[in-house]
Amino acid sequence: MSSKTAISPRRDQDYPNWYQEVIKNGDLAENSEVRGCMIIKPWGYTIWENIKNELDCKFKETGHQNAYFPLFIPLKYMQKEAEHVQGFAKECAVVTHHRLVQDEQGKLIPDGKLEEPLVIRPTSETIIGETFSKWVKSYRDLPLLINQWANIVRWEMRTRLFLRTSEFLWQEGHTVHSTQAEAQQETLQMLQVYKSFAEDYLAMPVIAGKKSESEKFPGAVDTYSIEAMMQDRKALQSGTSHFLGQNFAKASNIKFLNREGAHQYAWTTSWGVSTRLIGGVVMTHGDDNGLVLPPRIAPVQLVILPIFKDSEERKKVFDYIEKINHEIKNTKFFNQEILTEIDDREIRGGEKKWQWIKKGVPLILEIGMKDIANNSVALIRRDDQDLKRVFIPRDKFLSEISGLLEDIQNKMYKRAFQYQKNNTRIIDQWNEFEKFFTPVQADKPEIHGGFARSLWCGELQCEEEIKQLNVTIRNIPLGAKPESGVCIKCGKPAKLRVIFAKAY
Ligand SMILES: [Zn+2]
Repeated sequence: MSSKTAISPRRDQDYPNWYQEVIKNGDLAENSEVRGCMIIKPWGYTIWENIKNELDCKFKETGHQNAYFPLFIPLKYMQKEAEHVQGFAKECAVVTHHRLVQDEQGKLIPDGKLEEPLVIRPTSETIIGETFSKWVKSYRDLPLLINQWANIVRWEMRTRLFLRTSEFLWQEGHTVHSTQAEAQQETLQMLQVYKSFAEDYLAMPVIAGKKSESEKFPGAVDTYSIEAMMQDRKALQSGTSHFLGQNFAKASNIKFLNREGAHQYAWTTSWGVSTRLIGGVVMTHGDDNGLVLPPRIAPVQLVILPIFKDSEERKKVFDYIEKINHEIKNTKFFNQEILTEIDDREIRGGEKKWQWIKKGVPLILEIGMKDIANNSVALIRRDDQDLKRVFIPRDKFLSEISGLLEDIQNKMYKRAFQYQKNNTRIIDQWNEFEKFFTPVQADKPEIHGGFARSLWCGELQCEEEIKQLNVTIRNIPLGAKPESGVCIKCGKPAKLRVIFAKAY
């Protein structure tokens, strides 16, 4: 393998631009003419569909049903929860007119001013809460477990494909419960669903934990998150689950008749993941030759590239390939048919192969006359950074294919886990902490230590001071043993060891 890479710049040269180039070369998405909005291309969208299908099954397994609510939220709903409106006010797109008319020059202008403006949903707690207040009457209606797959608009000033765009796709779960304990249990259950999905399907190790007060969802009592480490050692908040207490129940008047015959406010939760997960996959696994996709969410798990000189060879090669492809279809990967594609486009072999490498397809099979003669196949594993071509007897390959995909899935997780581990440090001295987060090289501000596990006093003021370093508390990991010591910054007594990191 030559030192020339398919993606330029490389990760170590310019990580943010490497990210953009991987997305472009992998044919995932592109910027649109509409400010801050992206166009998700078929390869990227199929990844989203795969994520969506798997998660949808998990939501249904845990008793949730899908429903759909309006894109527009009347302004008065937004006003009902004070913290909530404050949190989202700065990034709301608002519809104020309902038609267009032509002025004297023939130019279109908005007309028909709405009496009450409509907010395009930045999240749906308020409108769903309003609906739930009508659906929920008695304890018999509870728990109410609803999920919505939808698009969301948040008017972001600085946007980045998949990570932060003004419009994005997501799911939002919204549930209502009769007790606090049940709502809290739901919040943690869904966090766990996200954690195992990220790890088992996206091969992306995450730390599940609780957000500090300042980082929680506007209007929530508690917010929990899963945080993943990207290859520039920054954290990506990859999913959140909120225990909303009775805040939204009170704002939207969600009350029920309890077993004792009294009316009381319900307890609610909400939780979501978005197309941001795709950005997470790119930055967790991508290398200097492009995307590397975990087999469990790859649109194509194995691509077969026929190699031939003339029509006579072409026929022989295709006969051989079709037999192999048929046999592959008889084996399963995680109980599903293996997704293959025979790429017969009329493109030069080398160029074709590199397109698939950049798209991150887990296995590439090249088959030509030599392979037919040897009754073998030539195989490239995308997770092998050297992209070595290995010749394997045909039958051995067929018996091993599902194991190969499993091995790729597992190795990708292990590699990412090792990376996170290698770049996470317990730090108890402020000067060491500062040094850890200082860029290694002045011209590459993104390269720094990674995750610091440090003690924190729990005070907002102290957290704010640490933010000066551009470092935030990502979360307070679940299940951490209580410790006693002193706060990394202020030296006051501290019991919480939290994850500090720079974040997306
Ligand atoms: Zn402190």
